[in-house]
Amino acid sequence: MTTTPMAPLVPSFVQNSWWTPSDPAGGTSVLDANTGKPLATVNNDGMDLAKVVEYGRTVGQRELGKLSLHERALKLKELAQFLNERREEIYEISYRTGSTKIDSMVDIDGGIGVLFTFSSKGRRELPNSNVILDGPMEVLSRDGSFAGEHIYTRIPGVAAQINAFNFPVWGMLEKFAPAFIAGVPTIAKAATPTGYVAEAMVRLMVDSGILPEGSIQLISGSARTLLDVLDYRDMLSFTGSASTASSLKAHKNVIDGGVRFTSETDSLNAAILGPDAVTGTPEFDAFVKSVVTEMTVKAGQKCTAIRRVIVPAALVQDVVKAVGERIDSRVVIGDPRAEGVTMGALASLEQLRDVRCAVEEMIAAGGEIAYGTLDAPVIRTAEGETKTVDAGAFMSPLVLTWDDVKNQAVHNLEAFGPVSSVIGYADLDEAIELTAMGSGSLVATVCTNDADAARTLTTGIASHHGRVHMLNRETARSSTGHGAPVPHLVHGGPGRAGGGEELGGIRSVFHHMQRTAIQGSPNMLTAVTGVWHAGADRVIAGCDEFGAVEGAIHPFRKSLAELQIGDAFASPLREVTLAEITDFANETGDTFYAHTDAAAAEANPFFPGIVAHGYLLVSWAAGLFVQPAPGPVLANYGLENLRFITPVPDGDSIRVTLTAKKITPRVTDEYGEVAWDAVINNQDGEIVATYDVLTLVEKENTTYAN
Ligand code: NDP
Repeated sequence: MTTTPMAPLVPSFVQNSWWTPSDPAGGTSVLDANTGKPLATVNNDGMDLAKVVEYGRTVGQRELGKLSLHERALKLKELAQFLNERREEIYEISYRTGSTKIDSMVDIDGGIGVLFTFSSKGRRELPNSNVILDGPMEVLSRDGSFAGEHIYTRIPGVAAQINAFNFPVWGMLEKFAPAFIAGVPTIAKAATPTGYVAEAMVRLMVDSGILPEGSIQLISGSARTLLDVLDYRDMLSFTGSASTASSLKAHKNVIDGGVRFTSETDSLNAAILGPDAVTGTPEFDAFVKSVVTEMTVKAGQKCTAIRRVIVPAALVQDVVKAVGERIDSRVVIGDPRAEGVTMGALASLEQLRDVRCAVEEMIAAGGEIAYGTLDAPVIRTAEGETKTVDAGAFMSPLVLTWDDVKNQAVHNLEAFGPVSSVIGYADLDEAIELTAMGSGSLVATVCTNDADAARTLTTGIASHHGRVHMLNRETARSSTGHGAPVPHLVHGGPGRAGGGEELGGIRSVFHHMQRTAIQGSPNMLTAVTGVWHAGADRVIAGCDEFGAVEGAIHPFRKSLAELQIGDAFASPLREVTLAEITDFANETGDTFYAHTDAAAAEANPFFPGIVAHGYLLVSWAAGLFVQPAPGPVLANYGLENLRFITPVPDGDSIRVTLTAKKITPRVTDEYGEVAWDAVINNQDGEIVATYDVLTLVEKENTTYAN
C-alpha cells in the first residue's frame, strides 16, 4: 500500500446505500498481490460512524425483529443458495489477492457453507420464536406459585466485526451468520488489503434482496474510532494481530462501557507426531501431508496454520526431508491464474516484508533454515513463464529447525506466511510442555495411532487450545483438516489466540444474546416464554375427576390454528394386574426378575415386589390419552426426557395427563411440532413417570377435515 490514490474507490455500504467520501482525494492505494499494480483505493474520510451504529440499533434491530429465529434461519439458506450460484464472480476478484482457486474456495465456498450450516442448525436446534429457554424452571416457593428460570434474548445493539485480510469472505460470514440468526444487525469492517473482495460479496448480499434492511452494513477502509461509538448494547468481534487486539481490549468503552469484546488473534498452532508414527506408517504420511497443506494453502496466511511441528527427536530429520520432498513434488508457486499453480502470493508486499522480517528475527534467535530460501522464488507467471520476478508478494515455503527446542523465539514469533519450525521432543511430557509454550492456540493436531498416546497428548494440551484435531489412519482421508474450522465446532482459543469464540455451533448464536434470569408465577413464565410451565393454567378435557372442564375438546382434535399451550387431556385411572405384567413379560421377552420373580423383586431395595415394566406403563398411557379418530395429529415422532419415578406394583392404578407444552410451526411445511408434557400418576397422586411426547400436527385441519 502507498498513500497515492491511483485506482477506483472501494465503496462502503452504510445506512442502506453505497457510500464514498465527497472528496475522493487521499486514501490508501491497494495493490494486486501478484503484479504489484494499483487495484483500488480505500478511503472513508468523513463517514459518521455514530450514525452507522445508530442505524443498526434502530432500523436493523426493528427489521430483524419482525422475523422469528426460524424465519431468519430460512433466509440464510436462501441467501446461501443465491450466493452459491454467483460465486465464480467472487473467485475472479479473489485471484488478485494472491489466492489460488483452492484458496478462494476455502474462503468463499467456506463462507457460504457457514450460512447453510447455521440455517439448518438454527431451524433444528432453536425454537421458532425470539425467546430461548436456558435450562429448567427452578421452583422457588413451597406452594409452587413462585419460580425462576433463564432466558436468552438478543442484545439490543449491533454486532460489529473488524476483520483480517486473509479471509475477506469467510471471516465476515462466520460472524454474520450467528448474529443474523440471533436477530442482531452486523457492521462489518473489512481489512484494507482485501476489502474489495468483501465489498463484492456484500454487494451480492444486498442485491439479493433477501436480507431485511439494516441486516448488514460494510465499512471499507479503516475504522479507528468505531469503538468510541459502541456501548454495552453492542458487541465487537475482532480478528487480526494480537497487538491490535490488545489495544482494542484496553479501550475505555470495553473496560468501562461494557462493549462485549471477543478476539481471535494469531497463534502458534502445533502439530504433534506420536512416538509410534515413524517413517513408513500411514500416520507419518498423513502428518507430512497436513504440514505441507497448512504451510501452502493461502500461502500460510491462516490463523490456524501449523507453525510448530513437534516430533520425536529422532524423527526431526525424517520429517524435514519428507516435508521438503512433498513441497518439491507438489507445490508450484506463481500467479494463481496460471495453469498448475498451487501456491499464490502473500496478500500484499507489506505482508511479504513482515514475514521476511519475522523469519530473520527467528534466525537471529537461533533458528536455522532447513528447507527453502529467503531469496525471491522462481514462479510461474500468468503468461505461463517460469522465472524470478521483482513484482508480486511471492515467497518460498520455509522450514526451520532449532537446537534449543525451548527457545522462546520458536514459541513466540509468528511468521504469518509459508513458514514452519520442526522441533524434537524427548517424551510425551515434553511434547505437552512444548505445545503449551505457545501460550494458548486455536488448534493443534495430535497424530498417532496409539490410543494411550492420543489420550495423554489430547488431555495434556486441550486446555491450551480451542480445538484438538486427532489424526490417524482412520481419519487420514475423511478429516476436514487441521486448519479448517467447521461451523459446528468452536473456532477460537485461549491466551494468545485471543480468548474468544467465533464459531461453535448454536452456542455462537448465544454470544449475540443476553442470558437473563426471570422470576414469577408459572403463568407469567408461560406468557413470557411461550412454553407451558408446570403449575400454569390449563384447559383440561377428559376425566372430570381430574380437573376436566365441561365442553373442553380433546387437544388431539385441534389443528395448530386452534391449539393453545395449556390445552390438556386427563385420563381416568386404569388398574394394573399381575396377569398383564406377566403377559407383557412373556410377549416382549423382557422377563427381568423385577417383573417375574417375586422373591428376587422383594429383595431389591427399589421395588416392593413385582412391578410393572416402565414401557408397559408408557404404552398404557398412550392408550389412555389417545384420541384415535383420524385428525390433525399426523405422527408421534418420539419421547424426550423419560424418567420412571415411582414403581407400580400390581393392584395399583395409573392415569396420565397430557398438556400442550410447546408449539413450533414449521416455516416451510403445512404442519408443525407439538411437544406435550406427559405425567403418569398413581391412584395416590404420586408421580410415576414424566416425559415429553413429540408429535407433528397440521397447521389447518385439512387432511381429515370431514
Ligand atoms: P491488524 O491487527 O493490523 O489488522 C486487522 C484488522 O484490524 C484490520 O481490519 C485493520 O484495519 C484493523 N485495525 C488495525 N488497527 C486498528 C485499530 N486501532 N482500530 C480499529 N481497527 C484496527 O492485522 P493485519 O491484518 O495487519 O495482520 C497482521 C498480523 O496479524 C499478521 O501478520 C498475523 O500475524 C495476524 N493475523 C491473524 C489473523 C487471525 O485470523 N488470527 C488473520 C490475519 C492476520 P485496517 O485494514 O484499516 O488496518
